[in-house]
Amino acid sequence: MAAPFARIFSKSLRQIPRPWGSSCQSGLRSRSTKSLPVMGSDHTSGVVSFPPLQTYSEEESMMKDAVKKYAQERIAPFVSKMDEKSAMDEEVIKSLFEQGLMGIEIDPEYGGTGSSFFASILVIEELAKVDPSVSVLCDIQNTLINVLFTKLGTPAQKEKYLSHLSTDMIGSFCLSEAESGSDAFALKTRAEKHKDFYVINGSKMWISNAEHAGVFLVMANVNPSAGYRGITCFIVDRETEGLEIGKKENKLGLRASSTCPVNFDNVKVPESNILGEIGHGYKYAIGMLNEGRIGIAAQMVGLAQGCFDHTVPYTRQRVQFGKRIFDFQGMQHQIAHVATQIEAARLLTYNAARLKEAGRPFIKEACMAKYFSAEVATLTTSKCIEWMGGVGFTKDYPIEKYYRDCKIGTIYEGTTNIQLSTMAKFIDKEFEQ
Ligand SMILES: Cc1cc2nc3c(=O)[nH]c(=O)nc-3n(C[C@H](O)[C@H](O)[C@H](O)COP(=O)(O)OP(=O)(O)OC[C@H]3O[C@@H](n4cnc5c(N)ncnc54)[C@H](O)[C@@H]3O)c2cc1C
Repeated sequence: MAAPFARIFSKSLRQIPRPWGSSCQSGLRSRSTKSLPVMGSDHTSGVVSFPPLQTYSEEESMMKDAVKKYAQERIAPFVSKMDEKSAMDEEVIKSLFEQGLMGIEIDPEYGGTGSSFFASILVIEELAKVDPSVSVLCDIQNTLINVLFTKLGTPAQKEKYLSHLSTDMIGSFCLSEAESGSDAFALKTRAEKHKDFYVINGSKMWISNAEHAGVFLVMANVNPSAGYRGITCFIVDRETEGLEIGKKENKLGLRASSTCPVNFDNVKVPESNILGEIGHGYKYAIGMLNEGRIGIAAQMVGLAQGCFDHTVPYTRQRVQFGKRIFDFQGMQHQIAHVATQIEAARLLTYNAARLKEAGRPFIKEACMAKYFSAEVATLTTSKCIEWMGGVGFTKDYPIEKYYRDCKIGTIYEGTTNIQLSTMAKFIDKEFEQ
């Protein structure tokens, strides 16, 4: 069994040199001058060398390897049944917490693993190779919920929630509504102020992990006359009176990940449950989704790689016309093409993640990574079914599931069109005189 990461890192973090540490914003424990990037300079020739993008710190390598093993041992046996039943197995959820994978960046003070954003990206990728539904559970928790609490929480909010989010509580991010998807800030959920509390009314749609969530971060408008500048982020506990989780959607893919409407009927929350500042919810949502997109890109890279890894061995075994089907040039060229696309998607994703960690502009690159990885996942899964022939089309192999699961990559956390529009805005600016 894989060792729990929380234990690995609480023991080893301080001793491990972290090549990316000096510029890492989120991995606070890594801010040591000893952990400068492995950037070498040959003073005689004046040549400066930079590490390849796929250079991992020792900690990142450990995490990647350990998650790979954990996913094979503890998740793979459940994947097909969870898809069939459209339900996440409680055992899987429990083991994610046990392994420290639901609080990757949370400080050990709150029971977290105390690792970095890039480590989260590697974990999301590794989990998606085995099950994209488990990957998105881990992704939303780590790249949206935990980060919002960490960045914006008061000491009391951090104490109350971070210690649970790292050990036993799932969080859901509630922005979308029936009439506001891409146009998210047209949301209609209202929060009306009364003395020292607010009353929330409205309905959210498409809320991932709602079935199991213990806490909901809800974007609601406290001052509709101010438009999107009234949007505020509220912490709402699951047991709060008036909060109702609707019937989960019957989806094409990601079936083990619950996606539900969440209704708020006169839900009373104390003023102390505002996360961050009143009227800043739109900024938080944009900021988090910009970062979160890198997580979805990693999910799509992992999904594509997982599907490819299941398929290539088949093409090396299957014989037609007296040869392995892998030996036909027509197959080889397609396989090599797809392998290149996956590698390119991974590099875009890692680059966006490293830029974010380095505190450099990353929004355009994150959009590119998310857009491209979703396209690559679509191409890969479609090709893999074709390469497997008839059996690829059956549920005897996991390929058809990857094919269904990948479609969401072009939709959530900003559709493909929205990514392209954002990129175009940056490009337009770059060419301004
Ligand atoms: C499985 C799943 C999980 C989700 N999880 C969450 C969650 O946890 N929390 C949450 O808040 N939301 C969640 N969502 C919602 C998701 O983010 C939205 O579905 C997404 O933003 C798209 O919104 P929409 O579905 O309303 O589509 P629409 O916005 O109606 O878009 C429909 C089409 O119109 C295009 N379009 C719209 N506007 C433009 C434009 N300006 N230019 C060009 N094309 C445009 C889109 O690209 C798309 O092709 C989830 C959705 C799904 C399906």
